[in-house]
Amino acid sequence: MNCPPLHIGEFQIYWLNGGNFRLDGGTMFGAVPKVLWEKRCRPAPDNSLPFTNDVLLIKTPEHAVIVDTGLGNKLSAKQLAIFQVESPWSIIDDLAEHGLSRRDIDHVLLSHCDFDHAGGIVMHNSHGEEELSFPEATHHIQKAEWEDVENPCRRARATYWPENFSLLRREGKLAIVEGVSEVIPGITLRHTGGHTRGHQLIEIRSQGTTAVHLGDLFPTHLHSNPLWIMAYDNFPLEVIDRKEEYFNHYRNSQSWFTFYHDPAVKACTLDEKGRPDQLWPRPSEEQRQ
Ligand SMILES: [Zn+2]
Repeated sequence: MNCPPLHIGEFQIYWLNGGNFRLDGGTMFGAVPKVLWEKRCRPAPDNSLPFTNDVLLIKTPEHAVIVDTGLGNKLSAKQLAIFQVESPWSIIDDLAEHGLSRRDIDHVLLSHCDFDHAGGIVMHNSHGEEELSFPEATHHIQKAEWEDVENPCRRARATYWPENFSLLRREGKLAIVEGVSEVIPGITLRHTGGHTRGHQLIEIRSQGTTAVHLGDLFPTHLHSNPLWIMAYDNFPLEVIDRKEEYFNHYRNSQSWFTFYHDPAVKACTLDEKGRPDQLWPRPSEEQRQ
């Protein structure tokens, strides 16, 4: 989908194609019974639903910043089939449409390091060799997340793939963050935990307007009920607490919540009852009827 940019003061947010895939509907809604979620999104006969991996491009007057990196181009034919990848990663071509090359990106912010968010840190070049997709960028990862990348538990081993991180230290492009960190004026990282131990949010502020990217704590607008969480969450009760806390905090400042996995809605605000209010892109007249 070609979504118009969301303007946050002097900044613009764009959504780039980090590769679309299909996931089991049950895993995306955890303990929520199917009779409830299937009213909102109808699954295919194999129970799968389509999801995006939308990389955010934030353009500021001085910087070009990427949030998460999509699936990347290193998946084997077998992996492409397993994850039902329906449109391949096209970040480099998408950047060109914005007049940018991959060398123009100066910061990459990783909400966390699961393969669907970190797969595009390292890419295959035209000779099939691995190189950093954004070679000039500093890559920001929370300390607890990096510890788990270097020493994953049994469950994390399936999703923290060494080939996605091998070049970061060698090329000196890793910034390990602890807690709160201002990347550039107006863009701040905050440790959240919940989905993974070192998961972080990205807060984007300019001229009194705010957007917040809650990563996999709020993967689609259908997850606006704090209790609608994914089976992939490592610390489910923490996710529920964090969602309530951040929804209250950012709703009060009329912030936009931006999405990574939502095929239809790229950002929304929440009303006082916590329901999606304004949607981005704005629905057309026909869609509203
Ligand atoms: Zn994810």
